[in-house]
Amino acid sequence: MQQACLFCRIIGYDTPAEFVHEDDLLVAFKDLRPQAPVHLLICPRKHIPTLNDLMPEDNALIGHIFQVVKKLAMQSNIHQKGYRTVFNVNAGAGQSVYHLHLHLLGGRMFSWPPG
Ligand code: 5GP
Ligand code: ZN
Repeated sequence: MQQACLFCRIIGYDTPAEFVHEDDLLVAFKDLRPQAPVHLLICPRKHIPTLNDLMPEDNALIGHIFQVVKKLAMQSNIHQKGYRTVFNVNAGAGQSVYHLHLHLLGGRMFSWPPG
């Protein structure tokens, strides 16, 4: 827990968020500025700044993130039409909060390549 970290504060209930999933390893909540009708952030409880800081002992966590994504995509009914999952890593990819989180986006068409 890093008091200066926005997502640590959300996980610690110091900053409000609209949670859609909570378990021992991670939480998921709605993005404050959604870029699609469904825009969820899946966020480990452990403070890991970026994907570059991932350790071998985090492998189970990463697997679990994608199991939760699958569940949330089905719950949101975006699993058949399609959805996108994104880890932004560092400033060049647009990362603005330095606590690892996976974006789950759906409910509209997405273009490729991304901007
Ligand atoms: P990043 O840019 O780091 O990949 O993603 C950070 C995301 O966090 C952005 O999509 C942004 O809209 C979202 N965000 C920023 N501040 C808050 C907040 O206080 N609450 C919630 N729920 N989302 C936030
Ligand atoms: Zn944090």
